[in-house]
Amino acid sequence: MTKNNYQSTRWTLKALLPDPTGEVVNQTIEALEEATTALEALRPTLAPDMPGKDFAKAVTALEKVATLANRLGSYGPLWFSEDTQNQNALAFMGRMDELLADIQNRILFFSLWWKELADEDANRLLAYAGDGRYYLEKERLFKDHTLTEPEEKIINLKDVNGISAIVTLYDMITNKFVFELEVNGETKKFTRDQLMTYVRNPSPEIRAAAYQEQFRVYQQEAPVLSQIYIHRVRDGAAENLKLRHFSSPIAARNLGNHIPNEVVDTLLDVCTEQSPVFQRYFKLKAEWLGMPKLRRYDLYAPLSDKSDKKIPYSEAVDMVLDSFNEYSPRVANLARRVFDDGHIDAEIRAGKRGGAFCSSILPGMTPFVLANYTGEPRQVATLAHELGHAIHALLAADHSVLTFHSALPMAETASVFSEMLLTDRLLTEEHDSKVRRDILAEAVDDAYATVLRQAYFVLFERDAHQMIAAGKTPTELNQHYLANLARQFGNSVEISEDFQYEWICIPHIYHTPFYCYAYSFGQLLSLSLYQQYKQEGDAFTPTFLKILSYGGSASPQHILTEAGINMADADFWRGGFKVIEGMVNELA
Ligand SMILES: [Zn+2]
Repeated sequence: MTKNNYQSTRWTLKALLPDPTGEVVNQTIEALEEATTALEALRPTLAPDMPGKDFAKAVTALEKVATLANRLGSYGPLWFSEDTQNQNALAFMGRMDELLADIQNRILFFSLWWKELADEDANRLLAYAGDGRYYLEKERLFKDHTLTEPEEKIINLKDVNGISAIVTLYDMITNKFVFELEVNGETKKFTRDQLMTYVRNPSPEIRAAAYQEQFRVYQQEAPVLSQIYIHRVRDGAAENLKLRHFSSPIAARNLGNHIPNEVVDTLLDVCTEQSPVFQRYFKLKAEWLGMPKLRRYDLYAPLSDKSDKKIPYSEAVDMVLDSFNEYSPRVANLARRVFDDGHIDAEIRAGKRGGAFCSSILPGMTPFVLANYTGEPRQVATLAHELGHAIHALLAADHSVLTFHSALPMAETASVFSEMLLTDRLLTEEHDSKVRRDILAEAVDDAYATVLRQAYFVLFERDAHQMIAAGKTPTELNQHYLANLARQFGNSVEISEDFQYEWICIPHIYHTPFYCYAYSFGQLLSLSLYQQYKQEGDAFTPTFLKILSYGGSASPQHILTEAGINMADADFWRGGFKVIEGMVNELA
């Protein structure tokens, strides 16, 4: 294995802005002001019969605004995630949010004009849009859900201190939580990420205690947290249903993802239909662990006792980079850039945002990866996952700032694939049958967490939006969440009452309602692509890299059809479950 000796440190955001308090911020704001004025100056030239070259000029001006806006707008959230109690980061974020809402309002005319055009005029002009083409095509999908210019402006302005601010409060409250757990006779304080590593502890008591502590702390703030959710849902209903006339709350997300409603329904239906694949696994797992029945606390229990195994950060990075290198040296080199540029923040610090994410800001700029690396073996998979996102963005570096971001449902393609490359590498290197079994079981655990768990979150959200519209209370939502779990697990797992609070612990349903099906979509898609890779070997690599290098420059439908996939076909999704079933069979 190659030794790179990368150390876990804080990241540097200098590539975005050398200094968030210095003169450079004002200079960037000035440049944005100029770019916006330049675009505004083109307003009188916009007409259905305008020359193509004038239209191209407008698209280029729009790209310039987007580039500067991305730079200014992304700095605050990244800075904030380093330390969610940092007043300066919050102040910067607030200032930029207001500034960008203003800019967005000033250039709104372009998008409104564009959506109003007749199809034939739009189609003629699209030929001059360069790589921004799909972005503009997608804008027009929202034609029937767009309001007038003054109305759109009011929504933008009021959101900054309205619903967006309320969701930031959710982050501030929950990131400040301190959890206590007794480990080896000593009570210690933990962040949520640290606490949650104990749900994979070999001791059944510790696993239960970790979950109980999580829910104890969240429950104390449950009235506030569930109220925030209710506001999030009502705000969405007011805007998307009453004002924009979407047929359902989820339809707005589906259109944003450019996935037909029926395809999402099919995906969720197949997940429900195939839940017995995991239920069987959980029953087997109970047998392997010598338990009559798995408690919900035991879902991620390791099969063997290897609790103390910690992998140093530098070794974990080497493992991930090696697995990439074996697949494609080009891919490994892209991932390496994240470390070489200091764009990864993996250390554990109080107040830092939990979990892990990858944020890609501009085409060609090395993405930023945040993780909370605690050394547990499965965190190596998390690193592989987030670096997969970075690779995806870097492969799409040639696209416009408007189109290099992949659509949400495609966004998990590279990340999940990367995780599987890592798992396979671990399996090839491991000859101890017990350890191999652990690796495989962890892969099934992960598949559960990404496919079925996320699909059931969305099923809960679908119901919760209806329930809140009907005036149901947080207590009723809690009860409904328990019923959702009962459907998900059948009789395979025993669910205790404390899990009624699980939904208020899921940031995604607050930040981006209905986001989570993108995980189920991405994982099942990746499983089937990975299967194809295993059958065809290196010959499949160009096809896969081509899918990734599209970024968001074509619709998921277009990209997948080209790869021979029909996402409207329930059997395609069942195919993903077949792969998981195969892993369970290998374990049984
Ligand atoms: Zn991901």
